[in-house]
Amino acid sequence: MDPVLDVDLPSRSRQLIYFRLAFSVVSLLFGLVVNHYLQLDISPSALVAVCVLVASGNLISLVILRFFSLGNKTLQWLNALLVFLDLCAITEFVHFTRGIESDLFFLYLLPILLASHIHGRMGVFATAIAASIAYPALLIFENWSIFGYLFHNQGEGLTAAYAHRTYLQIASRSAILCSVALVWAAFCDRMSRMVRQSLIKLGEQLQANTRLLEEVKARGQREQLTNSISIALRTTLDVDQILNTACTRLSEAVSQRRCIFVARLDRSEPIKIWDSAVEDANRYSSISPAISEYLFDHDWRREVTATESQFKKFIISDDPFVRSDFDSIRKELLDANVATILIRPIRYGSAVRGVLAIFCYNKPEMWTGSELELVDSVAGQLAVAVEHAQLVEQLSMSNRDLVYKNENLDAKNMELRQIQSQLIHQEKMASLGRMVAGIAHELNNPVNFVHGNLPYLKEYCEQLTGLISIADDEQKRATFEEQKKKINYEFLVTDLDHILADITEGTERVRQIIRNLRSFSRLDEAELKEASLQEGIESTLKILSQYYGRDKIPVQADYCDLPPVLCYPGKLNQVWMNLLSNAAQAVSAVEAPLVTIATQADGDFVMVSIADNGTGIQDADQSKIFEPFFTTKPVGQGTGLGLSICHSIIERHGGTIQFESKIGHGTKFIVRIPLKASIDLAEEARIEQAVAET
Ligand code: ADP
Repeated sequence: MDPVLDVDLPSRSRQLIYFRLAFSVVSLLFGLVVNHYLQLDISPSALVAVCVLVASGNLISLVILRFFSLGNKTLQWLNALLVFLDLCAITEFVHFTRGIESDLFFLYLLPILLASHIHGRMGVFATAIAASIAYPALLIFENWSIFGYLFHNQGEGLTAAYAHRTYLQIASRSAILCSVALVWAAFCDRMSRMVRQSLIKLGEQLQANTRLLEEVKARGQREQLTNSISIALRTTLDVDQILNTACTRLSEAVSQRRCIFVARLDRSEPIKIWDSAVEDANRYSSISPAISEYLFDHDWRREVTATESQFKKFIISDDPFVRSDFDSIRKELLDANVATILIRPIRYGSAVRGVLAIFCYNKPEMWTGSELELVDSVAGQLAVAVEHAQLVEQLSMSNRDLVYKNENLDAKNMELRQIQSQLIHQEKMASLGRMVAGIAHELNNPVNFVHGNLPYLKEYCEQLTGLISIADDEQKRATFEEQKKKINYEFLVTDLDHILADITEGTERVRQIIRNLRSFSRLDEAELKEASLQEGIESTLKILSQYYGRDKIPVQADYCDLPPVLCYPGKLNQVWMNLLSNAAQAVSAVEAPLVTIATQADGDFVMVSIADNGTGIQDADQSKIFEPFFTTKPVGQGTGLGLSICHSIIERHGGTIQFESKIGHGTKFIVRIPLKASIDLAEEARIEQAVAET
C-alpha cells in the first residue's frame, strides 16, 4: 500500500464522513422539495430510508473514530465499508427513482471519487468495478420477469420486443456506466496521485523549510552570542565581565544548561571559575574546588583525539560515572547530581588557556550539531579573550614597571639637582668665607700692629710733654712761649689726645669687623657645636651692611632670651644671610622699608622669624620658591638657589622653614629648629657618596 495514503488517514476519513452526512442531508431536502414541486412520484419514505442508511452508517463510524484509536489498516477497512454503503445507498436510490429509467445512475461516480481520497489505485478500481456490477445487477434484478423473452420468443410479439429493447437498454446503460466508471476511476486515481505527490513534495518542502528555519535561528542565535561576546571584548578590558557574559549567554543558548569556564589568568593566582549559575544560587550548588582543579589540570588532549563526539574538540560524556577519567571527582559529580558533561579545552596556539564545561543535571540530554557549533565558536572567542586579558595584564605590568622606574629616575634627578645646587652654593659660600677670612687675616696684622703701638705712642707723647715742661726755663721762656703760641700748643696737646682716641676707636672698630667676619665665615667652626642664634643673626646683619645700618633699611629686632642651640653655626648663618638679603631686595622699592627679626623659644625648639614689608610673593610662585633655580630676579641678580639651600639646611637640622606672604604687604619666613639638631648621618654619608660619584 502507498505509505502516503496512511498520512493523516483519520482526519481524511473524518472529512469524508462529514461530507457524506452533509450530502445525505442536502440530498434528502433537495429530493423532497424537487419531488414535491415537480411531482416526480418518488416515494419520500424511500428517500428518507436511503439518507438515513447513509447518515446512520457514517454517524456510527464517527463515534467509532471518536472513541477508538484505530490502526491505519482498520481505518482503510472502515472506509471501504462506508464506500460499500455508498454503493448500496446509490443502488437503492436508483431503484427508487425508477431503476432503468432513472438518470441518477451517474451518482455511482461519487463513491469512486470518495474512494480515491482514501484508497489507492486498487481501491478506486475496485469501487469502479463494484459500481459497474451493482448497476447492471440492479437493472437485471428489476427486469428479471422479462428475462425469459430474451431467449425463447426472440423477435415475436410486443413483449419480446419490449424485452429486447429493455435488455439493449440495460446493456447500453451498463456499458456506459462501466466505461465511464473505469475512465472516471483512472482519472480520479491519477488526480489523487498527483495531489498526493504534490502533497509529498509540499511536505518535503515544508520539512526542508523548517530545517532551514531552525538552522537560520540557530545561526542567528550563534551570531547574536558571538556578537555579544565580541562587543564585550571590544568595549571592555575587564576579563571577568567578558567571561561572565560568555558563560551566561552560552548557557541561555544551550537550553539553560550550566556553563562554567575554568582558567588561571595569572600564574601567581589560584584557579578561577566563571559560572553562568552564579546568580542562580538557589538552583545550583557551587562548583567544588576539586572539580574545577581537576578540569583545569587534567590533560584532556588524549581524550580529545579519542572522543565519542563527531566534533573532535569535545569530550561529551553521557555518563560521567562510567568513564575512568572522572574517577577522582566521581563523588563530587554524584553529589551535585550531574548527568552529562561536555568539556571543551580552550587553546590558543598550542597552549591550553582554560576549560569550558557544560553540565546537564538530573537526566542526560542530547547535544545537537548546531549547539556544538555554537560552543565551538564561543570557545574560539574565549581563547582570544583570555589571550587579550593576559597580554593586557603583561602590558600594564611592564607599564607599572616603567612608571616606577621613571619615578625613581625623577627622584634621582631631583636629588642630583639638589646636590648640584648645594655644591654650587657651598662653593659660593666657601669662597666667600675664604675671601672674608683672607681679608680678616690681612687686616688683622696691621691693625694689631697699630693697636699694639698705640700705648707706646701715648706714653711717648706724655714723656714728650713732660720734657717740654722741664725745658720750660726763664731765659728762653719768651721764645718758647712764642713758639708755643705759634704751634697752638694747647690745641695740639688736646688734639693729640683726640687723635689718639680716634685711632684707638678706629682700630677697635677694625678689630670688631674682623671678629664679625671670622664669626660669619666660621672657618674654625665647621662642626656641630652649641652657638647663639642671636649672635649669628647680628653678625650677618653687619656683613650685609650695604643693606642694613644707619640711614639704610631699619631693622626692628625682638630677641628673646634663647639658650645656645646645638647646630652648624656656619650653615645657619647662610640661612640668615639668604633670608635677610631676600628681605632687603624685596623692600628696595618700598617708601618706608622695615625688616623685623624675632626669636622665640617653643619647647625643645626655637623659632626665628624674618619679616619684611616688601613686594610679597605672587600666588602662582608660592609653590615654587623652594625649588632649585627658581628665581624672579633678573639674570645676574638671582640664582634661584638661596631658598632651596635654606630648606635643605633647615631640614638637615631636623627643623622646618615656612612662609606667609601677601602681595603688597610683605613676606614672613619662619624657621623652626630643634635645640639639639638631629643630623641624619646616613643622609650625610649618602650625599657625600653621591657627590663622590658625580
Ligand atoms: P634668588 O634670591 O636668587 O632669586 P631664592 O631661592 O633666594 O633665589 O629666592 C627665590 C625667589 O623667591 C626669589 O626670586 C623671589 O621671587 C622670591 N622671594 C624670596 N624671598 C622673598 C621675599 N622676602 N619677598 C619677596 N619675594 C621673595
